[in-house]
Amino acid sequence: MGWDALPLVDAADDGRPLIERRAVLRDGFYELQARTVIERVPQAAGIAQRWAVAPYRGCAHACRGCGARAGHRRLGLDAGRDFDSRIVVRPNVVERLRAELARWDGQELAVGVGGDGYQPAEERYRLMPGVIGALAGAGVPFTVYTKSALVLRDAPVLARAGARVAVSIAFVDERIRRAVEPGAPSAQARLELVSALVEAGVECRVRMAPVLPLLSDAADQLAATVRRIGQAGAVAVEPVVLRLVPGTREWYSAWLAQAHPHLVERYEELYDRAGLPSPDYEGRITGQIAQLCRVYGMRCGAPEVVAGEPRAAQLALV
Ligand code: SF4
Repeated sequence: MGWDALPLVDAADDGRPLIERRAVLRDGFYELQARTVIERVPQAAGIAQRWAVAPYRGCAHACRGCGARAGHRRLGLDAGRDFDSRIVVRPNVVERLRAELARWDGQELAVGVGGDGYQPAEERYRLMPGVIGALAGAGVPFTVYTKSALVLRDAPVLARAGARVAVSIAFVDERIRRAVEPGAPSAQARLELVSALVEAGVECRVRMAPVLPLLSDAADQLAATVRRIGQAGAVAVEPVVLRLVPGTREWYSAWLAQAHPHLVERYEELYDRAGLPSPDYEGRITGQIAQLCRVYGMRCGAPEVVAGEPRAAQLALV
């Protein structure tokens, strides 16, 4: 979800990478005191909310097509393996979030799109309960994006807060999952997570993201995925075709060239310079998924998002 335009901390430059100047390395995690934690979500991220908060940068789920990769470059890290393995933690996220929410206009926030808020680092740092508490206390609506069953730990408080959870399940083929989401739970585990969240009274959507052109977009693959999402009890499906924004493009393309060299040229035809798939292709895929959602009784598409006042834009500049 492309974060290279975001001010993580300050932009001062004494020649050393930001991560070296500002972070403390502790047991393999980079602890970095953030100055601003509510950040603008780029349009290309393909999520409904325009603003987001994330306790972690980088993500051990290591999804090849993750759109947040470029954010690591601002820290002096690379958008490939560093994004997967050098996880940046914001220990002061709750304190900063409370301060920013005091002047927030009430528009809905996304949680965990710069790095999954329930990735393994959360077992150690337990930042998400404080984030949820701050948002609930301020009465700000929010959606948590995750692939991890650790979110179930916080299901009671999420249900009480009226929060939505969006679980990403783009395909149910485990061979593809191992190749492109090597650190993430299996699709089966995520389908079970959807059922458990519904059981716990949490509104649960599924982001069918990212659909991978020529790898997970065959009619039978889409049908199997939507059918199982429906059986799991999700209220809605949000289809998103892979975006190859900077950072993501290089990492995904290097893998594609190695694993599926015969597809490289076809991807080049399919994607424009900004990394967006052709509108015809995207329309065809989302249309097929919408049709399948009708068959299985689910809503399809992005949710309605609670809007706020334009003054929130000031926060991006702080
Ligand atoms: S789980 Fe989400 S944030 Fe983490 S690598 Fe995958 S797409 Fe990126």
